[in-house]
Amino acid sequence: MQQGNGTDNMKIYGNRLLLDTVHNMSARDRTAHSFLIYGDSGLGKKTMADYIAALLVCENETGPCCACRSCTNALSHVHPDIIYAEHSGKMGGFSVETVRNICADAYIKPNNTDKKIYIFTDADNITVQAQNSLLKLIEEPPDYAYFIFTVSDRNIILETIRSRIISLAAAEVTRDETVTALTENGISEQDAREAAELFSGNIGRCLEYLQSDQMKNAVDLTKKTADCIINRDEYGTLRCLTEASADKALLKNVIEMLDRIVRDALAVRYLPDSITGCSRERAHSLSSGLTMHACEKIHEALARAHSLIDKNVNIKLIVSVLCGEIAAFRQL
Ligand SMILES: [Zn+2]
Repeated sequence: MQQGNGTDNMKIYGNRLLLDTVHNMSARDRTAHSFLIYGDSGLGKKTMADYIAALLVCENETGPCCACRSCTNALSHVHPDIIYAEHSGKMGGFSVETVRNICADAYIKPNNTDKKIYIFTDADNITVQAQNSLLKLIEEPPDYAYFIFTVSDRNIILETIRSRIISLAAAEVTRDETVTALTENGISEQDAREAAELFSGNIGRCLEYLQSDQMKNAVDLTKKTADCIINRDEYGTLRCLTEASADKALLKNVIEMLDRIVRDALAVRYLPDSITGCSRERAHSLSSGLTMHACEKIHEALARAHSLIDKNVNIKLIVSVLCGEIAAFRQL
């Protein structure tokens, strides 16, 4: 097996920097005790966490071999020394009790290997209190203890913890790598190309798109909304976003994708090929029809609306404020 690639079950596409960093540490036997893997959803952060855990417990020197008992147990999430912190509550954070149990457990020696790894996936809603409880352990971990967090935004983790942890960005991959990843996961070449065109470097989002009607609906609504913005159709913009607001997740998806198109509109002025959103042509239309200042302001309004959706603010209010802002900023 090629080093740094994993097997089919744990293959990491692209992300050379991340792989080189962890393999170099491992080769020098100087693996950090704590990792923070951050980046958008769909970029494979959890697979990366599993990969680092398997690398730590693998019985072969140039692991993870994905064949030894430690690796296969790690892959099936049944390795006794790889512990996944349990999510709880409506927001999916980690309870005081879970954190307390981990803090106590970390001082008990490992069972099967000489390492014990605690993984906090999707830790975006980890509380400050939970982080403070973990701080001492992360500052001075027992020799055998390791911690891996995955988050979308690295700023969620307190500076006191971030300064003691290795931060690794989960990066987007190339369009070709996306197509390879999708076809290796059983997707037809044609579907893989279509999805890669929409979500370029994000393999997870491509898979989600291919497997869910909701995502297809979201792409449709995003394109329609973008058309309305381009055509100065304020009523149309409101109608599209109101339709999306029937479902919080759908609205979030549409706003995220719309924001990507707007950010692409800003980027294509300098790098014509730097498209990451789901519509190249609309990014170009926005870019030529709007000033940079207008694009920046609309991007800010979209980001603001997105962050309010989870904060129990009335959805209708968010949508109408957003539409008003887009109409106003459109004129800048
Ligand atoms: Zn192994």
